[in-house]
Amino acid sequence: MSPPGPAPDLPGYRHVGSGKVRELYEPIDPATGAAATDRLLLVASDRISAFDHVLDSVIPDKGRLLTQLSLWWFEQLADLVPTHVIGTRVPDQVPPQVVGRAVMVRRLRMIPVECIGRAYLTGSGLSEYHRTGEVCGVRLPPGLTEASRLPEIIFTPTTKAELGRHDEPMTHAEVEALVGRQRSQLLAGLTTEVLTRGNALANARGILIADTKIEFGVDAAGHLVLADEVLTPDSSRFWPAQDWRPGRVQRSFDKQYVRDWLTSPASGWDRARGDPPPPLPEHVVAATREAYVIAYESLTGRRFA
Ligand code: ATP
Ligand code: MG
Repeated sequence: MSPPGPAPDLPGYRHVGSGKVRELYEPIDPATGAAATDRLLLVASDRISAFDHVLDSVIPDKGRLLTQLSLWWFEQLADLVPTHVIGTRVPDQVPPQVVGRAVMVRRLRMIPVECIGRAYLTGSGLSEYHRTGEVCGVRLPPGLTEASRLPEIIFTPTTKAELGRHDEPMTHAEVEALVGRQRSQLLAGLTTEVLTRGNALANARGILIADTKIEFGVDAAGHLVLADEVLTPDSSRFWPAQDWRPGRVQRSFDKQYVRDWLTSPASGWDRARGDPPPPLPEHVVAATREAYVIAYESLTGRRFA
């Protein structure tokens, strides 16, 4: 598998930044040569990250799958919260080279909080619960186990760390100190609503959304806007509803396969020593692509072509 390449050159656009998965561009006005300051082109690559590392392998079609699934969700959620999507039409909104994996968005001042909502207990939330009986300061009833459904959705925000650094849990008081009381309540409320709506739609299609991470930005008028990506297998845990059984690790249609392989003896990866993760073997790449396709097709009811 070839390693991730550089950001593609897009005539008429200026590359302004790279996330772990997305490349960011500013459109250039052909008449004046000036870059637009109110819009951004987000281009999702096929890169995959795990444990805060960008891996040396790509998952074919992942960028298109993430973009198409996010666009579908943005439509489903548009009555709940304003979204950053402007459009995907060629050629005025998206250059032909990246059609399918690019979206023109409103450029926002991003809120430096990863807004995580949890409907089921697993991963870092479960570890914290085992240690303290709480997750991010939210006290939970005793007796919960791997994959338990939570009595209600909880908001467990983290910091948004620089590349290579770890996102750290934040208490609700810390979020409030950063963004103010009213806005922190809005972040928590909207995160809960997005996950509630997401699960209502997903459950009807045989998928449980265990947890998810969303990002918000603020527009020129000071309104909160749903940004980045939403309810994708990169940002969420998707479990097949018919197999859900608390007390054991669930099968899932997301990056879990990658995480499981990386932490298995087969990978030979010494994570504790700070080594970069090894490239993924072909079977892990194929299984991960398949999981992303299943998530996309089950949720949207569309064939991925
Ligand atoms: P991860 O999503 O795993 O935390 P990342 O933050 O590096 O990693 P990418 O999705 O690769 O994320 O990059 C997208 C970048 O663009 C992020 O920094 C995100 O905050 C930012 N972004 C998303 N939507 C907007 C927007 N509408 N305006 C400005 N910046 C945005
Ligand atoms: Mg992101």
